[in-house]
Amino acid sequence: MNTLENLSFDQERALIRVDFNVPLDDNGNVTDATRIAAALPTIKHILSAGGSCVLMSHLGRPKGNDSKLSLNQIIPTLEEHLGQAVQFCNEVVGEKAEAQALSLKPGEVLLLENLRFHEEETKGDEAFASALAKLGTVYVNDAFGTAHRAHASTTIVAQFFPKKKCFGHLLAGEITAIDKVMSSGEKPVLAILGGAKVSSKITIIENILSKVDHLIIGGGMAFTFIKAQGGSVGKSICEDDKMPLALSILEQAEKLGVKIHLPVDVRAGQDFSNDTPQKVFPIEQIPDDWEGMDAGPASEKTFDAVVKQAKTILWNGPLGVFEFPNFDTGTRALGDSIVAQTEAGAFSLVGGGDSVAAVKLFGLEDKVSYVSTGGGAMLESLEGKTLPGIAAILA
Ligand code: AMP
Repeated sequence: MNTLENLSFDQERALIRVDFNVPLDDNGNVTDATRIAAALPTIKHILSAGGSCVLMSHLGRPKGNDSKLSLNQIIPTLEEHLGQAVQFCNEVVGEKAEAQALSLKPGEVLLLENLRFHEEETKGDEAFASALAKLGTVYVNDAFGTAHRAHASTTIVAQFFPKKKCFGHLLAGEITAIDKVMSSGEKPVLAILGGAKVSSKITIIENILSKVDHLIIGGGMAFTFIKAQGGSVGKSICEDDKMPLALSILEQAEKLGVKIHLPVDVRAGQDFSNDTPQKVFPIEQIPDDWEGMDAGPASEKTFDAVVKQAKTILWNGPLGVFEFPNFDTGTRALGDSIVAQTEAGAFSLVGGGDSVAAVKLFGLEDKVSYVSTGGGAMLESLEGKTLPGIAAILA
């Protein structure tokens, strides 16, 4: 892999694509600096190796210039985290940006204005990418969250640095974590897929089926599988048109020797709300006026046993409507099982979508092996797609 360790940064000006797409309050204060903190290892590596840094990122979805989405608002937080002054350029490309970049001394940092003030960024415009390329002597991509987009700063710019481009620490970490689950992980490998719909996870299921030993299917997705096998799912979320597909996935899994685990019981409610009356039913016997909203106690035990024999674990999607505290028990229990198995030596990756929100809500993010920073990028990786931002560095 092309990592920071493979390049010399002494006297180099590193053009780094970071992900500073952070949430701001109405006064422009950063309300969650996780992404800024996550970019520090790469920036510090380059500075201590004798280089300077030109940082570029997008922030939100501006239509042209929009002071509410100016990256200058994040400067105080960035300076505080980095422990040094950061220069700002209110342009992205052009003479002014070039002059500021060229005057950087080793150890100094410059942040460019929001890349998406220029529509050429998301269009992957080559001339714009070429103008960006003038700002650095080396290109580093450390933004996993946009690695699935062929934008100017994430992909196209890389071609102007044929021998001097690499992944930053954050992006390299994501690639390694995905690789552990998809190809190099210790067996047995377990994938846990939850969330609302089968339709949004079909490609992932198809791609990972040949790579895992066990697959837990939970959350709203499970009801399509249960109904397809003749169960009664009441008012639970169910995609009737995907029932044939569910049956073919079960058949395919059997052929491949992959064990699929579905919930055996369910915590149901009478309507879709936190305070609705709650009752546990066997998963295939949900009465017509009840709706399955969380894995039941027997499912928790079954899933715990499956997790406890896995050496490599991927978790994508909650086991229930965890946003309702009264229906978060199954998702919480699964998180605890994964944490315990991680402490016992397993590798666990949580990524893509709401399971990341769940582990953060439950305070488990530091207790699993890796929590992915990229929603869409992680989903596309799990679907087996080659991400353009990653391919551009490897080219
Ligand atoms: P995803 O983005 O596909 O991971 O789906 C996450 C969403 O699935 C969350 O908002 C959950 O509330 C929802 N979900 C999980 N289980 C159920 C269920 N049994 N019924 C309805 N929604 C569910």
